[in-house]
Amino acid sequence: MSLQGKTAVITGSNSGIGLGVAWELARAGADVVLNSFTDDEADHALAEQIAKETGVAVRYIQADMSDGAACRSFIEQAGQCDILINNAGVQHVAPIQDFPVEKWDAIIAIDLSSAFHTTAVALPLMREAGWGRVVNIASAHGLTASPYKSAYVAAKHGIVGLTKTVALETAEEPITCNAICPGYVLTPLVEAQIPDTMKEYGMDRDTVIRDVLLARQPSKEFATVEQLGSTAVFLCSDAAAQITGTTISVDGGWTAL
Ligand code: NAD
Repeated sequence: MSLQGKTAVITGSNSGIGLGVAWELARAGADVVLNSFTDDEADHALAEQIAKETGVAVRYIQADMSDGAACRSFIEQAGQCDILINNAGVQHVAPIQDFPVEKWDAIIAIDLSSAFHTTAVALPLMREAGWGRVVNIASAHGLTASPYKSAYVAAKHGIVGLTKTVALETAEEPITCNAICPGYVLTPLVEAQIPDTMKEYGMDRDTVIRDVLLARQPSKEFATVEQLGSTAVFLCSDAAAQITGTTISVDGGWTAL
């Protein structure tokens, strides 16, 4: 399918899942706007690389998704936003009585409130264009919980709720809003947890991956960023025009348990 002529705006897309989704949308023909809070040469180089290899137009726009005003001005700067992928996210793990307040506030701001702000500004642009797709990257933690992840689980359940509300508000228009719920994906966010876990449990890398990280993922395989990107491309296709207000799990069976 071709997304030629569409512009996809992806929050938190200089790494991991956001970058994987950017590549797949670019391969499907969409112009792409990349984002993170940094403004490094490497960020702009990524935009150039995707443009060079896929032939679409790619821009990098720096904006901090923990700041509501910056989220809104990011979409304004993008100018066109036919496809909005709300992906930026951070994590912190601690029991609730020790959970740092600033970590709670940052996770709620970046993983949840940013999607409220970007969607609010993007929907009028989609209406003007007569077509739109909002895809929220939630998590298996949007449907189920784990201990010590209070802010993350609250934010991801919140984004699933936001997804349903936006879908109802756009139900009679050629706009859909859905959430993708990944299980574990081997991105820098997850890779960073491996050395500490190896030390903590005295395990080798393979055992940590199988018995700790993938303990709740029955397939015992990571989902890949390419699979998530292709799921996003599907949600942007005509075949998915009547899929709205729902979640698609890409979690190797986690939420079937
Ligand atoms: P990652 O750390 O590789 O990517 C996170 C992205 O968000 C990066 O591009 C980072 O720069 C960006 N970001 C962080 N804070 C930001 C801010 N203040 N402003 C703008 N951008 C910011 O992690 P990832 O695993 O690719 O995670 C991407 C999304 O997928 C997150 O929402 C995460 O919760 C979700 N997710 C990840 C997994 C997994 O196993 N990796 C599983 C389920 C859901």
